[in-house]
Amino acid sequence: MLLEFLTVYFFVSIVSIVYLGCYIITNKSMSQLKDVVYLVSSFAVYFFGYMIELHSNSMETALFWNQFQYFSLPFVSSFWLMLALRRYGYLNKVISLRGISLFIIPTITFFLRLTNEFHHLFYSGYSFEIAGEMGILHLYHGPWYYVHYAYLLLQLVLANILFILAFVKSRGARQKQMIALSAINMVSLGVTLITTFGIVKTGLDFNAIVLPVPGILFSYLIIKADVFNINAFARIRVFQDSDEGIIVFDEKNRIVDYNKKAYGFFEEQGLTLNSVDVSTFRALKPKFINALMCADKTIFKDSLVSDGRFFEFSTTNIVDSYQRDCGYIKSIKDVTEEIKYQMALEHSAKIDEMSQLLNRGEFIRQTEECVAIAETKTRTIHLIMLDIDRFKKINDKFGHQVGDAVIVTISRLLKHSFRGEDIIGRFGGDEFVIMLSGVETADVINRAEDFREKLAGRRIISSHQDYQVTASVGIAVYKKGMTVDQLIGCADEALYEAKDKGRNKVCIYKDSSE
Ligand code: GH3
Ligand code: MG
Repeated sequence: MLLEFLTVYFFVSIVSIVYLGCYIITNKSMSQLKDVVYLVSSFAVYFFGYMIELHSNSMETALFWNQFQYFSLPFVSSFWLMLALRRYGYLNKVISLRGISLFIIPTITFFLRLTNEFHHLFYSGYSFEIAGEMGILHLYHGPWYYVHYAYLLLQLVLANILFILAFVKSRGARQKQMIALSAINMVSLGVTLITTFGIVKTGLDFNAIVLPVPGILFSYLIIKADVFNINAFARIRVFQDSDEGIIVFDEKNRIVDYNKKAYGFFEEQGLTLNSVDVSTFRALKPKFINALMCADKTIFKDSLVSDGRFFEFSTTNIVDSYQRDCGYIKSIKDVTEEIKYQMALEHSAKIDEMSQLLNRGEFIRQTEECVAIAETKTRTIHLIMLDIDRFKKINDKFGHQVGDAVIVTISRLLKHSFRGEDIIGRFGGDEFVIMLSGVETADVINRAEDFREKLAGRRIISSHQDYQVTASVGIAVYKKGMTVDQLIGCADEALYEAKDKGRNKVCIYKDSSE
């Protein structure tokens, strides 16, 4: 009865191994395909040999099938360790000297088992009995047997260290896989110890009987848990190496996983991202955490850095295969470059580069806003238009560069002479505009006169020559219902009048219809 049971047991194990082998070979997205195929096929040879050995009715047949098992048995643990070493980057993918060296002792074991008749170094002796219908081979251990098993145990211990190291480095599902691989390893280690020291004296090979069980777990890890699936590795790579910080939360707002970059962002804020609960950080960095946890896309300015860095936080919901919410992903992106570029673009769209005053478009836009307010709130609005007198002459006499310097000087003087709330723009060429709101006409005239005088009183020195720069000024008063274009037109007319009257004058627009 036991023989039939063991035969079915080994037969099912071998069929499963062959199925697993076929699955691995046909699944092209598996990494370490060869390593896993070598490993599982060596198990198939071992189980097959032992299954037939149990059916032997003579010592010769039993020894033959025992020898058959030794075509793969010495190498199993080396394949296993090699797989673990390559998996964690300690061994090259190509066959290296270090890789081959793992197989030196197994190869000696293989030959010593093959030639055991001549030296009895592996088995010191054998006996055979038929128990029920089963052929049981009793093997007495020679010195090399212990060398071989000590080496086997060492390899399993090393493999376990690798799984523990991988466990420490990984998180989430990967950690569970490492626990599973370590469990497989520990079971193998346990049964090997029991077999080596003959703790269970049944006459049966305890190793062969127990190993299919962790084998099933190993198959599960390969087929279901993507342990050796390239796509899964690719996903981990993308996650870990992403330029964006990524934090994965479950539906209860607990941190489930995060990548290196996210850890770095938190570290810069003086926070160590190893807590499960993000709210513990809220007390320390409320602005950072509130911006991070905001459901909408938010831009956060890092005030810790003097030149200011900008981070963009965004949220992506995670749904399971039944479309149920099961958490969300927070991504943190350093958008400093983009924001600064955008700010520079916005600045250059509004500001005239040479004078650093508003350009014509922006001046008109802001004036339109003020006019719209003035319409409802009866606020005075005045527009001053100023044009440099005989500017062409300055250019001709001193050169364009000096002309440019005059424009810059006048722009600075305008900024100093008018109030912060006055809107000052360069209208183009040597023409400037100032919009004042809430100031009485008499005051506006005074300010314009003050400026004209101040400018005329300055001597501008260039190349050991000094010269006087004057400007003509036109003022228009805003009246209800006027458009900005009409206001500008009035100021322009007043300016022409000032030029006509001999330049270096201030004129106010007077409506001829009044
Ligand atoms: P007036 O206004 O008193 O009638 O005489 P003007 O010589 O100033 O004549 P107008 O205002 O029509 O000419 C403006 C000149 O300013 C024309 C152009 O050569 C010069 N100009 C315009 N933009 C710049 C600039 O950015 N830099 C320099 N250096 N010159 C400029
Ligand atoms: Mg001019």
